[in-house]
Amino acid sequence: MICPKCRKKLNNGLKFCTQCGEKMKKAAPGKRLLKVAGILFIIIGIAGIILYIINIIDIVNNYNVDFSLLLSSDMIIFFIPGVIIIIISIFYIFMGFSGVKFCNNTEKAKLLKCFALILIIPSIALLIFSSIITKTFSWISLFILILPMCFLVGAQMNLKAKGAK
Ligand SMILES: [Zn+2]
Repeated sequence: MICPKCRKKLNNGLKFCTQCGEKMKKAAPGKRLLKVAGILFIIIGIAGIILYIINIIDIVNNYNVDFSLLLSSDMIIFFIPGVIIIIISIFYIFMGFSGVKFCNNTEKAKLLKCFALILIIPSIALLIFSSIITKTFSWISLFILILPMCFLVGAQMNLKAKGAK
């Protein structure tokens, strides 16, 4: 490794630079995984919101929605899936930013792991539930799980590193 301050080449595992005394900081092991997954979460979250807005504009333009009907029960049922998409998108963006911000911070690994589990547990439950109902296995649902799984693995790696300290 190389000292970030004086650029002296050092043996791996040193806690301080032998030349200038700068404290050596080891990169958290899950850093890259959390950063990549975090950026993808932000992109997907923003895309989800944009697609939702485009969809709403499209509906309003094509069907001449009367907004006085918005508060009627029919319209509320109509908008529930959209609201769920918005909530998930916002959570994705929030989770993505946390992942990017704390990817190198092992102290926050537990928090990141909680975020991943919040996303993974209902997704798995939904996957099992829909598989039973439709009697077919949804590969798309499985694909949706890959990203939070990467996030979970990255957080777990950081958590392990924190414990080893
Ligand atoms: Zn140095």
